[in-house]
This record gives sequence, C-alpha cells and structure tokens, in this order.
Amino acid sequence: MLCPVCKNPMIVLELDQVEIDYCASCEGVWLDRGELELLLDTEQERARLLNILIEDDSVKEKSYPCPICGKKMNKVFVGEEKKILIDKCRKNHGLWLDKGELRSVIELGSDNKESKVINLLKQIFENSANK
Ligand SMILES: [Zn+2]
Ligand SMILES: [Zn+2]
Repeated sequence: MLCPVCKNPMIVLELDQVEIDYCASCEGVWLDRGELELLLDTEQERARLLNILIEDDSVKEKSYPCPICGKKMNKVFVGEEKKILIDKCRKNHGLWLDKGELRSVIELGSDNKESKVINLLKQIFENSANK
C-alpha cells in the first residue's frame, strides 16, 4: 500500500496484535476499518471514541486519496474541541492519521494513559524523532 501523502510504500507495524500501515517518511498511519477500535482496551472506551468522531464536510484543508480506492477522503474531527483532524474514506475503507495523531486519538479515547498501545506508540514515534 502506498502512503496517500508522499506515495512511498508503507511498512506494516504490529501494535498489540493489530497490524497498522506506517509511512516512514511522513510518519503517518493508515488504519483499516475497525482497527482503531481494536487499539482500545474496553467496550466503553470504544463506544466513547466512536462518539467523538465528527465528520465535517465544510473543512477546506486539503484531503488525501484513500490508499485503497483512491477517492478523496472526508475530514473527521476527533473530540468536541475539534483539535485533531483526521481523514476517513467515504467508502469506509479506513482512517488516515498524520504524524502523532494516532497517539493523540488513542490518548483521548483511553481511560488508561499508560496502556500497552500508548506505550508502544511512544516508543515507535520517539525513536523515529531521535534519528
Ligand atoms: Zn508518507
Ligand atoms: Zn477507500
């Protein structure tokens, strides 16, 4: 699969038994449909996170093509404060998150800020930042 932003081949990373696609050049992450929920520990956290995904057609920021179908993705805000903006395939193939956004989204959704997934994300992204 190619990165929708820089068109480089993405690498597959395993994150607590969930395989995610990661671009080593821009550090963005592609999640197939349903994978975001798998990164959270409890049903309650999953339900809450899905509740704070707010699709917004009015956002003018450049959108990327879905790496699966090639169609332009929708902008989706995460959280009531609308600080995090991610991309979602209109055909629901999955989600694209720019550098650092995956960790912010998971932290927003998790009750446990030291969960296994959050710690793994810290390791992956801090290592690449220090290169
Ligand atoms: Zn990239
Ligand atoms: Zn798609």
